Amino acid sequence: MNLLGPQSVTYLDNNATTPVAPEVAEAMIPYVRDFFGNASSAYRFGNQISGVLEQAREQVASLIGADEREIVFTSCGTESDNAALNHALLSHPSKKHIVTSRVEHSAIKKHCEFLEKQGYEITRLEVDSNGLLTVDDVARALRPETALVTLMWANNETGVLFPVEAIGELCRKQGVLFHTDAVQAVGKIPINLAASKIDMLSISGHKLHCPKGVGVLYVHKRIAFKPYLIGGGQEKGRRGGTENTASIVALGKACELAAQRLEEENTRVRALRDHMEKGLLAAIPDSHINGAGAARLPNTTNVSLEGVEAEAVLLLLDREGICASSGSACTTGSLEPSHVLTAMGLPASRAKGSIRLSLSTYNTEAEVGKLLEVLPPIVARLRNPSQVAPEN
Ligand code: PLP
Repeated sequence: MNLLGPQSVTYLDNNATTPVAPEVAEAMIPYVRDFFGNASSAYRFGNQISGVLEQAREQVASLIGADEREIVFTSCGTESDNAALNHALLSHPSKKHIVTSRVEHSAIKKHCEFLEKQGYEITRLEVDSNGLLTVDDVARALRPETALVTLMWANNETGVLFPVEAIGELCRKQGVLFHTDAVQAVGKIPINLAASKIDMLSISGHKLHCPKGVGVLYVHKRIAFKPYLIGGGQEKGRRGGTENTASIVALGKACELAAQRLEEENTRVRALRDHMEKGLLAAIPDSHINGAGAARLPNTTNVSLEGVEAEAVLLLLDREGICASSGSACTTGSLEPSHVLTAMGLPASRAKGSIRLSLSTYNTEAEVGKLLEVLPPIVARLRNPSQVAPEN
């Protein structure tokens, strides 16, 4: 197969997935090639792997200020999200109410829709025009039969941050379990779970320069966790299935790197993102940054380009080798406007003309410069096809 290589593209879609850090690829190779033993085996060639897994657990724990015993390795962010819901419902079988928001990722949104069909009651909190909700909104939604509050830390489409630490405090006081989908937040903003009241938190490796196929569910040590995958006693009985050693090693390394780069993410990457936004707003009339009035991730921009269809913009950007998206990669191709942007009150026409640009530590000023050169004429051409001389 003839594949388009990374050298041929300007990759501005890091909330969809990220390039694997060379150090991460390097770290995992021995565990793909040589050290294939099973951590549960009785002989040293196998059980030496458990020490390797524990080191990765410490690296992950250190990035989020957790205890290593609170780290459960999973296969992805979706599994972590599903496992958190599953635990909450199994541990409180008489409680049939879940509080979530209108702007969650499909991993929570679709699971809640599924549960609703099984007879659970779901309260989906509204957000304001900046994509925000408040602790009071959550307080008002709680009921004696609430089994779980699940709210994302950072929105994957807009980067808007929910006040999850304060929500965690509220839920702990009210005796309700609190889970946060932090798939987009981990590695981009400082997180210290030791100082928080968050019960469960989801991580996905491929959003932080690790390969796909590995994630984490943080489970507070006070919780007697009910496994979602029932099988062998791996992960101290919290997740069955032979450990994915190479990917876990990779995730450990990726977390170590993320901790080292957190400062850069919040300075250089943020400055690059701000420069990109300023440039876009200056060069494209009738463009708006969605969520600009809220605290946001340092790497994410969601821009509405009035009078155009995002799909057409993305196609033309793709022709120039620029990778961007119209929201979640999981919903790209759907003709519906983004549920996140419509929840923020954007009319369907404006939501349909919105694109997401998301940076990482590997993006350069030159790449953002290329976007700023290429995107304004694309938008002008789409808005006014008749005023552009045909190519010959
Ligand atoms: N939650 C959020 C906020 C996401 O952005 C994503 C992926 O885009 C997921 C969950 C799902 O993660 P994974 O792709 O690892 O299943």
